[in-house]
Amino acid sequence: MVFIMNPDVTREQINTFISGWENKGFSTILSVGTEHTAVCLIGNTAAVDLDHVVQTSGVVLYGKRITERYKAVNRVVHEDNTIVRTGDICIGEGYFTVIAGPCSVESEDQIIQIAKSVKTSGARILRGGAFKPRTSPYDFQGKKAEGLEMLSAAKKETGLPIVTEIMNQTQIDLFEDVDIVQVGARNMQNFDLLKALGSLKKPVLLKRGPANTIDELLMSAEYIVSSGNDNVILCERGIRSFETMTRNTLDLSAVVLLKQKSHLPVIADPSHASGIRSLVPPLAKAILAVGADGLMVEAHNNPAAALCDGAQSLDLDQFDTLMRDLKNRAQTEGKII
Ligand code: PEP
Ligand code: MN
Repeated sequence: MVFIMNPDVTREQINTFISGWENKGFSTILSVGTEHTAVCLIGNTAAVDLDHVVQTSGVVLYGKRITERYKAVNRVVHEDNTIVRTGDICIGEGYFTVIAGPCSVESEDQIIQIAKSVKTSGARILRGGAFKPRTSPYDFQGKKAEGLEMLSAAKKETGLPIVTEIMNQTQIDLFEDVDIVQVGARNMQNFDLLKALGSLKKPVLLKRGPANTIDELLMSAEYIVSSGNDNVILCERGIRSFETMTRNTLDLSAVVLLKQKSHLPVIADPSHASGIRSLVPPLAKAILAVGADGLMVEAHNNPAAALCDGAQSLDLDQFDTLMRDLKNRAQTEGKII
């Protein structure tokens, strides 16, 4: 249940209203928006007489029952679009932020070369996996802690913030120099990890599991936000369908629905969604066209020799060509790329 407060109420009146509910055993979420202030009740509200509260409290303009289980990430509770920031880079409404880099960090030279090139092309954030969740235990598992150091070197060299995947909460201390922590598709419902990331002060990029619903993605984001970290970016990366010609099926409706249902920024990953290099540029354009706030794309200096996901990686020239196209399109949409 959410209460939209009268526009002229004081902070003190809001605090009194909140403590009244907390004394009755509810927890609350306070959301101060540009248009209005909202107080959301968490708990069993079945017995709460909404009309009675509106009529008698003297501070409430109107109230609404929220049918969804997600509250903190729900647009009904938090009306303004959240813009996630890392340094001076923004991800959210008004921007189309491109994250690019190899699937895996392979060597310092490799990641620095890629970082310099994608930066020149217009990427704002560098990606690269150090800890790789691979389907087969016999496949390359990433450079691990050494890979994180290589990413740091590329960050130092180019000034690009870095995003990389964490596999479990015991790794958090290693991620000190990482700007955005990625929760991979396979970990989307690792609730202990999500809770641990809730106490971090840095943004989390949460990828949708290939077999998870939109509702489940939002509930996973709710774990992070309700644990204290509202800097969450949602990422659609393709879901498993009956189709076998593509690695996954890019769910563009999810991008649109997520933006409607939640105030969090939403990006999409055409590389893992398709698994096929030639599909990446057209899908990237579609992602921009449906209103996503950005893109995560795999780009490699030598895709044919990549240790992971070469077939879906753009080479650096292809990435540059894509960026030229996206820049024109973003400009017509009034987005900063
Ligand atoms: C990745 O982005 O490196 C990755 C492994 O993607 P996903 O978790 O979406 O499979
Ligand atoms: Mn990959």
